[in-house]
Amino acid sequence: MSTLTSTEPACVAVVGLGFSGTAVAIHLMRGLPRGSRLLLIEPAARRARGLAYGTRCASHWLNVPAGRLGLEPAHEAGFIDWLQRRYGAYSAAEFVPRMLLGDYLAEALAEAEQRAHSRGVQVQTLAAGVRAIEPAAEGAMRLALDDGSTCLAERVVLATGHLAPEAPRLPDVPGAPPWGTPGLIDRPWDDAALAALPEDGDLLLLGSGLSAIDLLTWLQDRGHAGRVTMLSRRGLLPQPHRSLEARPRPGLWPLQALADAPGLRVMLRSVRRWAAEARAEGRDWRDVMASLRASTPALWQRLTLRERRQFLRHLQPWWDTHRHRLAPGIQHRLQAALRTGQAEVQAGRLQAIVPAPGGGFEVRWRPRGAEAGVQAQRRVAAVVNCTGPSARVGHAPATVAGALLASLQAQGRLMVDELGLGLKVDAAHRLLDARGQPQPGLYYVGPMLKAQHWEAIAIPELRVHAQAVAEHLLRQVPVRAPA
Ligand SMILES: Cc1cc2nc3c(=O)[nH]c(=O)nc-3n(C[C@H](O)[C@H](O)[C@H](O)COP(=O)(O)OP(=O)(O)OC[C@H]3O[C@@H](n4cnc5c(N)ncnc54)[C@H](O)[C@@H]3O)c2cc1C
Repeated sequence: MSTLTSTEPACVAVVGLGFSGTAVAIHLMRGLPRGSRLLLIEPAARRARGLAYGTRCASHWLNVPAGRLGLEPAHEAGFIDWLQRRYGAYSAAEFVPRMLLGDYLAEALAEAEQRAHSRGVQVQTLAAGVRAIEPAAEGAMRLALDDGSTCLAERVVLATGHLAPEAPRLPDVPGAPPWGTPGLIDRPWDDAALAALPEDGDLLLLGSGLSAIDLLTWLQDRGHAGRVTMLSRRGLLPQPHRSLEARPRPGLWPLQALADAPGLRVMLRSVRRWAAEARAEGRDWRDVMASLRASTPALWQRLTLRERRQFLRHLQPWWDTHRHRLAPGIQHRLQAALRTGQAEVQAGRLQAIVPAPGGGFEVRWRPRGAEAGVQAQRRVAAVVNCTGPSARVGHAPATVAGALLASLQAQGRLMVDELGLGLKVDAAHRLLDARGQPQPGLYYVGPMLKAQHWEAIAIPELRVHAQAVAEHLLRQVPVRAPA
């Protein structure tokens, strides 16, 4: 292994430049003292976008209105201000393509970098993945990159984001081909595999959530001529956002009632009652969700492990479809596709995918509620796993993020939560090791905070965590004498 830079460790290395790493880096660049060195490490060709905002498909829309997506908690209008400066036409209530948010993040990162340089802060970007992190002399850490080089840092922020979706285990049927066989695509973000999909055959998507609908709109843009079947256990689709004009009205319900509730059942009953009251009074159930959002982490932390398990088993699909909603424009496209039969949704449990005579696959499932032995089937040209990102370290496919976390896990340097939702950290976002001890200098920010907060995967929450990590780090960094 070659040594990449000076033998002096950087004061901070940020690993991963999606939304979370970009937000941490920008805060750090503003606050680090002259003479500090910051490393930004990201293998993707386009920095500052990550999985969600790196899409090049104009039909992949944000699911939060533009007015609420600024980089900083204190300036949630940051993105809409940028959009209006640049393009004039947009309004704060509007839903816009995700790639525009990527442009905003990339520009904000480049500007912060320029200012940092002019203040004498050295910022270096390494276009590589980190595959291992090991202790080095004097409390520093050595980062091994996948190009064979290494670098040193006193503190490391992991902002490695989502793990790739886990392909559902294919039922053990004689002749069943494995995932990865041409036409059996295990990741909906594998551009090369998607490009090879036939343009006119029927397709089956496993899942009927946001990932499946992303793929459906991408297929529509490509002029796909075949029928698209979305198969999921319950056949639930994400609910739409309200129209652009209606303003959300959070804070209408007595959340103290939930804080005092003795458990999950009573919480659920209260939420249902409020939603019914909202409907009866001509208001919108989405206001109940909006009211809950800020309190969700505290409520989640009050649930026992058993209650969290019950929530995941029985309520999560309903929570997800009501909480993570579709932009109205995408909802209209989806409804039109369902009406014309271009798309259909099926509820059931996958039973087999086998090669069909003459090409393609026969997919069989047991419809939800049907008796044992009853099967439905479709003959399709290809199947795509759209079951959404995984958070299960050691189980998800070995992407650059998965490999690094698995290596830290093997060293006993991280603690995954009992429910497979993510990673455990302390109040300062330091990763807990396998014994539950916070690790000096090693931080995490990103969607795997879901394990501790449940509500932690979208920008409005991530920007708060990113700022907290950066502020904590800035308090740790010693002011150096000018060189
Ligand atoms: C398809 C999709 C759409 C979404 N849409 C929205 C939305 O509209 N609104 C909203 O609020 N939220 C949305 N989200 C939620 C999303 O979780 C957050 O908004 C946010 O993008 C998460 O950013 P992140 O930086 O934590 O993770 P990611 O975006 O996953 O970025 C992680 C980065 O780390 C890099 N990386 C990983 N491992 C390594 C390594 N070992 N070494 C170096 N670099 C590494 C990756 O290359 C990647 O660039 C969406 C999520 C998805 C998956």
